[in-house]
Amino acid sequence: MCKVFVKTFTISTSRRFEALNVTDIVEQTVAESGIKNGIVVVHAPHATAAIVLNEYEPRIASDYLEWVRRYVPPGGGWRHDEIDDNAHAHIASAIIGSTRVIPLKDGRLLRGTWQEVILLEFDGPRAGRRVVVEVIGCK
Ligand code: ZN
Repeated sequence: MCKVFVKTFTISTSRRFEALNVTDIVEQTVAESGIKNGIVVVHAPHATAAIVLNEYEPRIASDYLEWVRRYVPPGGGWRHDEIDDNAHAHIASAIIGSTRVIPLKDGRLLRGTWQEVILLEFDGPRAGRRVVVEVIGCK
């Protein structure tokens, strides 16, 4: 028997490139679910953003974005830019990934000391970025 609890959050981003720490909303959703053991899926249903699990200190947060600017530069001659000028964001989202799965044990995410759940925006600002948190517990 499994229990599934899903909640979708809407977040606004304010810059073209931005890193937002969403760990608190993930942990609040886990607490609200009442599920103590299982897995937590964090998913951004977007083609130009990503979810990562890593340190959220201002310099490294900006380094994630700088890595994208450096290796997948906006305006880098990408063919999709002929359509809507955001090929870099699609490529970064595809490579980095828009979904993370985190084990849940005794009501706590099994994340490391320096692992925060971070939404990476590559094509902002956007008023309606969504983050889906799905908590799955089975006995
Ligand atoms: Zn596009």
